[in-house]
Amino acid sequence: MKVIVVSGGVISGLGKGITTSSLGRLLKARNIRVTIVKIDPYLNVDAGTMNPYQHGEVFVLDDGTEADLDLGNYERFLGQNLHGAHNLTTGKIYRAVIEKERRGDYLGNTVQIIPHVTGEIKRMIRDVAESSGAQVVLVEVGGTVGDIESMPFLEALREMSYELGEGHMAFVHTTLVPFIGPAAEAKTKPTQHSVRELRAIGIRPTLIVARGTAPLTPDLKAKISLFCDVPPEAVISVPDQSTVYDVPLVLEAQGVGTILTKLLGLPDCEPEYGAWREFLATYRRGGTEIRVAVVGKYTELMDAYLSHVEAFHHVQGHLGCQIHLDWYDAEDLPRTPTALARVASADAILVPGGFGTRGVEGKIAAIRMAREQGVPFLGVCYGFQVAAVEFARNVLHLPNANTTEVDPTTEDPVVSLLEEQKGVATMGATMRLGTQRISLDPGSQAAQIYGKTEIWERHRHRYEIHPKYLDRFRAHGLKATGLSVDGRVEVLELEGHPFFVGVQYHPEFLSRPEAPHPLYLELVQAALARKEVPSPVPTATPIP
Ligand code: GLN
Repeated sequence: MKVIVVSGGVISGLGKGITTSSLGRLLKARNIRVTIVKIDPYLNVDAGTMNPYQHGEVFVLDDGTEADLDLGNYERFLGQNLHGAHNLTTGKIYRAVIEKERRGDYLGNTVQIIPHVTGEIKRMIRDVAESSGAQVVLVEVGGTVGDIESMPFLEALREMSYELGEGHMAFVHTTLVPFIGPAAEAKTKPTQHSVRELRAIGIRPTLIVARGTAPLTPDLKAKISLFCDVPPEAVISVPDQSTVYDVPLVLEAQGVGTILTKLLGLPDCEPEYGAWREFLATYRRGGTEIRVAVVGKYTELMDAYLSHVEAFHHVQGHLGCQIHLDWYDAEDLPRTPTALARVASADAILVPGGFGTRGVEGKIAAIRMAREQGVPFLGVCYGFQVAAVEFARNVLHLPNANTTEVDPTTEDPVVSLLEEQKGVATMGATMRLGTQRISLDPGSQAAQIYGKTEIWERHRHRYEIHPKYLDRFRAHGLKATGLSVDGRVEVLELEGHPFFVGVQYHPEFLSRPEAPHPLYLELVQAALARKEVPSPVPTATPIP
């Protein structure tokens, strides 16, 4: 077992997740089998109960695990699907230890952080290494070195490096080099302190990844090398990039792939980045500008919709247009007609998932605009459900139609609680979660977009479209063209509209830089087609 640990110092939000994902990509480009585990030192068992404003989007894995958003970065950079065992939290570890204690597994011993909690951490990492068949497991430790919460994890990893012996483990420490004052002078002191903190725990970094707004000069690298006891070539500068997908190549250019393979005794070879480089070249090509209005509830924090943002980046890297996302707080729309008019003038409209009452009427107003004015529209999860509500109100003339999430006593519950949710009282991991098989109608737009009639997509919801409205929907052009195996409505599409599709699932979780999701591709293609209205002057037929 070979392990690369990625820790962080100075501040959070340095892009440790992107660094870890990029290191994974570097090894993958050398045909090394790699996987990633994220450690989140908080006490929540999983991210499912966390507010997106505090922790960004909740990412859903195939097995239904509600995970930290970094799992999304890992999947996108590695092009591999992960499962729940790849996200460890203090809550998960303590739960396992306490269950063992209650069973009597510790045979009368006093149960302690060391060795029982650290032992459980090591066991869980080892299990992932074994079950995944990876040659290298990357372990990202969330939080900042020095936090009380991350101590047991760092201690477990220190123990592990001692147990595995020389040449089996590398420690990559990500820090901040701020540039301050009018002269934008780079400061290495925070890095020095943070490395000292790490060494006090018994961990000596192998590589230091210095984040900052500008690249480090050779002098600065030498200074960090001297103070932090690493060779100068092990000080890696990662200045801010225009796209996170550049980071593997930034690391590659500084020899990180070779340093790590040598250190871990793995075969090095010419890395393969063909499709990755092609994606980046297309991403930068420029071209027609497309403005997508995103109408949601957490618009102050882009991380709350991270996978949607990435899905659009993936499309840009394939179509070569320039996609701009304009964020609209759904709650403002009903009271600001000018904002609503701007939404209607967008090239495409996305209404992503969400929960609760706030902002629902604004989403409905935006969807009405999209439907009536032929603006390409994609509704995801709550966006799909409220599209059905909008249609029921304004086309079927059921003015009180609603989802029972908003109005439990509505006379027209177009969207209502899933039958199996009725007895559910607890919040954690109790939604309809994870991958489900969906059949698409052979003649549908959805089947044409996917190029097949059987798809697998990830879910996270408690409510669904009530089937009793489907006949009336169909009679007016809104057709349910995708159903789950157990007959739930998964896809709605509107006839006679350039692109008006709603989906109960979350396509954003499956989009990859090298394989953008077909629904996002099609949404943008519909926007492009609408922009490039055929010129009124007929083009001359070329003379044979
Ligand atoms: N609130 C809706 C439900 O629970 C939609 C969930 C979502 O958008 N993820 O069904």
